[in-house]
Amino acid sequence: MFDVKKVRNDFPILKIKVNGKSLVYFDNAATSQKPQIVIDCIVDYYSNYNANIHRGVHTLSQEATNAYEEARIKIQKHFNAEKSHEIIFTSGTTHSINLVASGFTSILEKGDEIIVSALEHHSNIVPWQMLCERTGAVLKVIPISLQGELLMDEYDKLLSDRTKLVFVNHVSNALGTINPIKEIIDKAHLKGATVLIDGAQATPHIKPDVQNLDCDFYVCSAHKLCGPTGIGMLYGKEEWLNKLPPYQGGGEMIDKVTFEKTTYAGLPHKFEAGTPNISGGIAFGVALDYMNSIGLENIAAYEKELLDHATQKLLEIDGLVIYGPLENKAPVISFNIEGIHPFDIGTIIDKLGIAVRTGHHCAQPIMDFYKIPGTIRASFTFYNTKEEIDIFIEAVKRAKNMLL
Ligand SMILES: *Cc1c(COP(=O)(O)O)cnc(C)c1O
Repeated sequence: MFDVKKVRNDFPILKIKVNGKSLVYFDNAATSQKPQIVIDCIVDYYSNYNANIHRGVHTLSQEATNAYEEARIKIQKHFNAEKSHEIIFTSGTTHSINLVASGFTSILEKGDEIIVSALEHHSNIVPWQMLCERTGAVLKVIPISLQGELLMDEYDKLLSDRTKLVFVNHVSNALGTINPIKEIIDKAHLKGATVLIDGAQATPHIKPDVQNLDCDFYVCSAHKLCGPTGIGMLYGKEEWLNKLPPYQGGGEMIDKVTFEKTTYAGLPHKFEAGTPNISGGIAFGVALDYMNSIGLENIAAYEKELLDHATQKLLEIDGLVIYGPLENKAPVISFNIEGIHPFDIGTIIDKLGIAVRTGHHCAQPIMDFYKIPGTIRASFTFYNTKEEIDIFIEAVKRAKNMLL
């Protein structure tokens, strides 16, 4: 059975005070906190077997290499990739997306079309705009309804024989919308288009099966699912990873170097130039083990209870508007109170020890759609409690009374 008290003990930061109050951390969509086991794993690496990987015959280097490669296999299994070399370590979602966008420079032609959704994070918009500038391809956008859901009829209309690439997030970080990615992928494939799914916001709550989804690429960051910052992954189907050129040149990614010609290493090393974030990769594996030991289904079921409780309590506040869907969503609530700037509420409740995000959440087009400067975003995870939500609700009411 899921035991939140026990889980909370795994996270040292949950015991600290902020501004003299117990920390209530509701900014999990920006980054999650780290369990002791992940922190220990990083300390253990630097204390006991720090060495560069894939290079030395010496014992420490082999130990570090084994741990790093074992982490890759853990990630492969977690996402059900067919082959471990289809998992490329990157510094995170942003790096993964830029790697793919860069690779398509030599593949796309003028007039080709790229489809993204109106719900994307800037990191799943800007690299494609830059790709369009390099190639003359055209960016098309799937619009959303007032409830913050993709208009799938409009998607159908955008798809054509000119569509080469489709990029959609699995879950919106700004609104929590869970997108129908299976349908999006299947429809794109019928037109011969290639699909990348941004899983940065989905992976803390959902265990994607990349073979079942049949996506061409799936990307995420470890830091949103209890792992460290500076590490993430790119899953790519083998045929695509073979087709794309290397992203960066350097050590590790070569087969043979002469000044006349260099040949590249095979997968996954072709995309992993330079010394990587070794401890980060190992800790990413430990973070997945930790999440799996609790169980993603248990996590999702508990988070739904938190989400329902918070949604109901927030809607009792006069003048409060929630953006995006109210159900079938990730535990993210984006809201405003009429007549109050989101930043002012965020500042007041911070004084009470409550961490939420205020602003555009790296998704300015969504804010433009709703004609607002930003929102207050409370995002929950499995170590949060209903008691914390009640403290948060009281704090929001207090802030409202002070500001109106
Ligand atoms: C956080 C996030 C990103 C960016 O991830 P980084 O770790 O900052 O590279 C991209 N897309 C979504 C949906 C996100 O939530």
